Parts: sequence; C-alpha cells; structure tokens
Amino acid sequence: MVSRVPNITQPIVTRFAPSPTGYLHIGGARTALFNWLLARGSGGKFLLRIEDTDRQRSTKDATRAILDGLSWLGLDWDGEPVSQNANAPRHAAVVDELLAKGRAFRCYMTEEELAATRQVAFSEGRALRSPWRDRPASDVLADTPFVIRFRAGDDDEVLVEDAVQGDVHWKGKEFDDLVLLRSDGTPTYNLAVVADDHDMGVTHIVRGDDHLVNAARQAQIYDALEWDRPVFAHVPLIHGPDGKKLSKRHGALGIEAYRDLGYLPEGLRNYLLRLGWSHGDEEYFTDSEAQAAFSLSGLNKAPGRLDFDKMASVNAHHMKLADNARLLELVSPWCEKLVEGLDTSSATFRVPVLAAMDVLKTRASTLAELADQIYFLIRRTPIMLEGKAAKPLKGDAPDLLTRLMPRLEAVSNWTSDYLHAELEAFTEAESIGFGKIGAPLRAALTGGAPAPDLSLVMEWLGRDEVLRRMADQIKTGE
Ligand code: GLU
Repeated sequence: MVSRVPNITQPIVTRFAPSPTGYLHIGGARTALFNWLLARGSGGKFLLRIEDTDRQRSTKDATRAILDGLSWLGLDWDGEPVSQNANAPRHAAVVDELLAKGRAFRCYMTEEELAATRQVAFSEGRALRSPWRDRPASDVLADTPFVIRFRAGDDDEVLVEDAVQGDVHWKGKEFDDLVLLRSDGTPTYNLAVVADDHDMGVTHIVRGDDHLVNAARQAQIYDALEWDRPVFAHVPLIHGPDGKKLSKRHGALGIEAYRDLGYLPEGLRNYLLRLGWSHGDEEYFTDSEAQAAFSLSGLNKAPGRLDFDKMASVNAHHMKLADNARLLELVSPWCEKLVEGLDTSSATFRVPVLAAMDVLKTRASTLAELADQIYFLIRRTPIMLEGKAAKPLKGDAPDLLTRLMPRLEAVSNWTSDYLHAELEAFTEAESIGFGKIGAPLRAALTGGAPAPDLSLVMEWLGRDEVLRRMADQIKTGE
C-alpha cells in the first residue's frame, strides 16, 4: 500500500483551475469560493490556473467570462492567472523525469493494436496494460509515432485520504497505463495538473467529486515523482431543486445569471458557502466571519440542492447589511430599466432614494425587488395620467386632500414625526378615521403602492413633490 500522507506546513496555497470552455458555472464558483476562503482565512495564497490545453475548445471569451465572474463574485486571486498551455515544455520535462525513473514508457501501439488490447483487457475485467510497459527503454522504433504512458498499477492499492470523502481505496490494477504525452507531444490532463499544482506550490485542492478518480491517478504520479501530495478535498456536486445533478434544464447555471437577477455578490457567496459547508447551524456569514470559520472539516459529504427561496432570503439578509450609497449605485441601472429617461445622477433621484434606502432595503431580497420598492419615488408624474394609476378619488376624498394641502405647506419641520402628528391633527379636526385620508393620500403619492408608512413617504419625497403630486391628483383624478 502506498500512502504519502500529506505533510502540509503553512502557508496554505490553493487554486481554482477552470477549463475555459464556457461561462463560470455556479458549481465552479462554489469550488473557487471554498479555495478562496481556505487561502484567505489562513493568510495563504489563492491562485488561478486556466486549463487551456484543449486548444479546440478553449476560447479567450470563456477565459474573460470566468475572470469577470470571479471578479464580480469578489474572489480575488494572487498574481497573474497561469496558462496551463504555456507550461507544455515543463510538462514534457516532467514526463522525461518519469521515463528516467522507469515509471513511464514509450508505447508504439497502433490504433488497431490498442483497440485489440483494450478489448482483451475489458473481457478479462481488468484495466489496460500496454505490451510496451515491460520492454527495455532502449527498445525504440525509429520513425514510428508513440505516446508516453504511465506505468500504472505497480502498487497493490492506491489510497487517497480525502478531507471530505475519507479514505478512498482502489486496487492498482484498476488503472490503465495512462497516456501522459500524446503522440503530438501534448500533455494529458492528469499529468499537466500534477506538474502545475506541484510547481505552483499548491498545498490543498478542493474541487468537485467528479475528479475523485483523477485524484487516484494523480496520487500515483505524485508518488512516482516522489513529490508530496497535496491535501485533496472532493466536494459533492450541486444538485438541482429536484435532487438531480445540475444540468441545463435547471436553467441559470452561469454566475452572471444571478448577477442579472439582482443578487449581491456577498449574498451569493454566503448562499454558496452554506450549500456544501456548515458551521453548527449558522446561516449568515460576513466575509471575515466566513474566512475565520471555514475549514475543510465543515464540508458536507451529501450534495447540496439549489434552493432559490433560500438564496433569496440569504441575499435579503445581505441587502439589509449593505451600505446605502453602494446600493444606490447598484440599483441605479435597475431603476433606469423601470423608468425611461430617468437620470440616476440627478439629485431628484439620489436624494429621496438615499433617504428611503434604510427602510426600502429591508423590503427587498434582490436589487430587482429593491428597484420595485423604489418605483413609487421615481415614477413619472402626474401619476394619474400614467395609465397604471390608482382609481379616481371618490366622495369627499378630493376635498379632504384639498384641505390637507395648506396644513402640509405650513409644516415647519418636514420629518416623518412632524408629518405624522400633522396627519393625526387633521383627522381629528375633520373627525374622520385615518383611512379616509390615508387611502387618497397614498393614491396621490404612490399610485396606491403598498409603500411604507405615509409620513415616511412624505419625508422622502420632500414637501414640493408631495404638494405637486397631491395637486395632480386633485386636478386629474376626481
Ligand atoms: N480543469 C478542471 C475542470 O474544469 C479542473 C481540474 C482540477 O481542479 O484539478 O473540471
């Protein structure tokens, strides 16, 4: 049995190693987050490696989308991203080292021989073994294409001590003589990953459990090179709300879809963290709390299911914590979508919205919902002419509004407390219940939106706008 128990001394170095063949998948984003937290929480490094050895499928656009996604999510990496493709000469040198150690060999099997050998191995229920593995290294065929294979299965047992999955055992004979270098000299995935992780000083690899069997292959390569293995932590993949593996039919797979739905990066970070990791029953984490609390031992063995209600409620929590001036910037584009021609740089937008932010942000779980909450402040006036207006006023409502106007004009201190007192004094003087004036006033000021307390609404809108909207309503909405 071969086991090189990882002997990790600080600092921790982690990495995220996406293949640039598409957007930043939500599962990849969570993997990146775990690696980022592990590094940031320990004063270590979080590195980025773009696994672009597949020249056909790798694109610059995908690389950009992945970097943009990570940046939006707030996962900053140390140094420049490493291009795996640029390391090709080093990969070849590592293969030379394996050849020199007798742990790799040149294999001259033709396509046909390979197919036949594979067939025999399959029918005997064992992994592929090349007839070339036991030929002396001097056995070289001139002008014949060859691949270089790893000499697998010399060990009876392969053990990976995984931080999430526990000890995972394989039989050495279960592993093919893996191709390390193709006949065109390009490296294969497992060789390149081992060489790069070693050279980048990676101490901990957190990734999806679809790579668990690769960990066993990689572990054999580490051992053959007499390199220390990193700590492996293979996390279960994210499942959809229906419990099935996440796939296109679940929709919203790319991280940018969540940005476009109006989630905050810190909300999504918190949600993704809890989707696969737990710390007692704590739900909410700021970054510094998450960094302090995160450890591999909290990673769950069971797959997490996407739960959009939960995502919204976690995001709502972070909406409440978010700085008002920042929310104002973030919500501006959403408001522009709601009201054509809105100038979000103007004081008429910024002042009331900022004044209302403390209250409105507690009523929204996303930026989209926040914009909906803000809508009554920024909607076009006169509201009654806008089409989506409240019903016309009935009975004595227009007269009540008319009589309220001079009293509001005279309010000395335009704050919700004073305005509230003034409304109470008005209902007393008129001998009416609050609803009698509340309903038409709400219609005039908000178009009937179930907005917060009316005296707050008046404070945010300001005296001039309140009087203007009331006059509009009286004039056009009778
Ligand atoms: N490039 C691989 C992928 O995107 C990840 C490899 C690794 O993390 O070791 O699945």
